[in-house]
Amino acid sequence: MNRKKIAVISGKGGVGKTSLVASLASIAHKDEEVNLIILDCDVDAPNLALILPPKSKEEVLTQDTFTTKKARFLEEKCVQCKQCYDNHFCEFSALNWDESNNVPIIDYLACEGCGACKVLCPEDAFEINPVKSGEIISYKADIGFPLIYGKTKLGSTTSGLLVSEVKERATALKEFSDANLILIDGPPGIGCPVIATVSGLDYIIAITEPTPSGLHDLSRAIEMVNQFNIPFGIVINKADLKSASQDKLNEYIRKSNYEILGEINFDLAIPEAMSYAEPVVDYAPESVASQAINKIYTKLKHIISEL
Ligand code: SF4
Ligand code: SF4
Repeated sequence: MNRKKIAVISGKGGVGKTSLVASLASIAHKDEEVNLIILDCDVDAPNLALILPPKSKEEVLTQDTFTTKKARFLEEKCVQCKQCYDNHFCEFSALNWDESNNVPIIDYLACEGCGACKVLCPEDAFEINPVKSGEIISYKADIGFPLIYGKTKLGSTTSGLLVSEVKERATALKEFSDANLILIDGPPGIGCPVIATVSGLDYIIAITEPTPSGLHDLSRAIEMVNQFNIPFGIVINKADLKSASQDKLNEYIRKSNYEILGEINFDLAIPEAMSYAEPVVDYAPESVASQAINKIYTKLKHIISEL
């Protein structure tokens, strides 16, 4: 199999994305035809490592990332003209005025590092510096394959860049040259991090559930994926949930002629497996959910082998 890059995304969080990724990863790892690398690009809330922990804590590699920039005020250069505050140099309201010391002060959480203050200050009393924006953590998971994920630092506004960096660092892993399946736990939503995740992928799995918000968020996620022209399939979690939304979801998928990759009925084995921090396919291999996920894997493998 040629190398394929696949992400599981969801328009919203809490619909079973990470749980599905962990189980697909476990099945793929047992597949002799597959050499797997797994990425968690949900950098604002990376949870996959909880279910797929490292084999050995000593081998966990943590690297800082510096994808965020922030302004720094250089008091020695300031002539206290107050133009930066009075003329609203900062569009992000990150520049305030310290009346007692008669100098500007920077709200570092609000600062986007845009550089306007540096350009506009007549005395060049600001500089823009990269600051730590997060971490990239990589290790061999206890069930045997490399896992790499990013984690944003509180206040960092560059989650999309961190996602790109996670993808880039994965290519530097020694296992990358032999890997023929890159499986990604994507971020929820349709913003920068998910756009950075899906760019350059071969296939997307969009997971949803039959609720009003599930349908709404799925349609937004698909709209985004369609911009990239990437083939995708839909997984419906809690597919047997009887509700008016279920009919609407089925109608939406049927009318749009979208592919259903699989359906997972409600199964208590899933939350139980999560509470033991295990993929459900390992925790309860005979459960209804595990059988459904195995079917999804088989279908997925067939689809990607034909891409
Ligand atoms: S514009 Fe520059 S020199 Fe004037 S108060 Fe602001 S930082 Fe100081
Ligand atoms: S770098 Fe941009 S966002 Fe930060 S304080 Fe200066 S003007 Fe505001």
